[in-house]
Amino acid sequence: MRKPFVAGNWKMNTDSETCVSLAKSIASGSREVAGEGVKVAVCPPFVYLQAVARVLSASSIAVGAQDLYTESKGAFTGEISALMIKDIGCSYVLCGHSERRHVIGESDELINKKVTTAINGGLLPIFCVGEMLEEREASRTSEVVSGQIKNGLASLSAEKISAVTVAYEPVWAIGTGLTATPQQAQEVHALIRELLAEMYGGQPAEEIPILYGGSVKPENAAELMAERDINGLLVGGASLKADDFVAIIKAVA
Ligand code: PEP
Repeated sequence: MRKPFVAGNWKMNTDSETCVSLAKSIASGSREVAGEGVKVAVCPPFVYLQAVARVLSASSIAVGAQDLYTESKGAFTGEISALMIKDIGCSYVLCGHSERRHVIGESDELINKKVTTAINGGLLPIFCVGEMLEEREASRTSEVVSGQIKNGLASLSAEKISAVTVAYEPVWAIGTGLTATPQQAQEVHALIRELLAEMYGGQPAEEIPILYGGSVKPENAAELMAERDINGLLVGGASLKADDFVAIIKAVA
């Protein structure tokens, strides 16, 4: 049985003190369930990864980076490799988060390279997809999400896909307080599962965790998780409040 998975994306938040205190509070608050009934990961900013990984090394909470570069080393000023991320004790990395797609301007092609690089470097990518508000309003959600899935996972073998977690995050629900209804989320999760089945076969597709993200809170976590194809949650704002994040972890455990 696949365990539910809750990942926290801290984005460009916390500082050298609060990253440690937040990690400690999450670890102590979720001690009874993390690793048992639910897999948990947190994704702090690059500069605090090592400090957080140290704090969490005795816990069952994994650490992930929020991005990576597609090369392993060399003259790439400002970039961070999969090897570096792994070297400091991280196991996950976000790829294709909507803020990287729409604020930084990452393409499907670049995101595909990042997913592949992550897996080849021994990391577990959390590959994010999701439509913008105008795309949903123009009834283009399926087309947009299908394109992101096909292009973002292009040329990934069935063997490699088992390292991937997919996160469906409608852009209009991220950081806005507007959550997709469980039915809206399930509809897109089912579409993603179907596409994955076409690409990799029914059994591998069943095993790939598909997380929902977009204004997840303690109050809506359980109802989202009750949907068939929602296997976990990717949490932004609420992962910065230890009590809320722990409540979400407990709600899905
Ligand atoms: C996110 O950034 O991945 C996210 C889902 O943010 P929020 O929970 O704040 O909407």
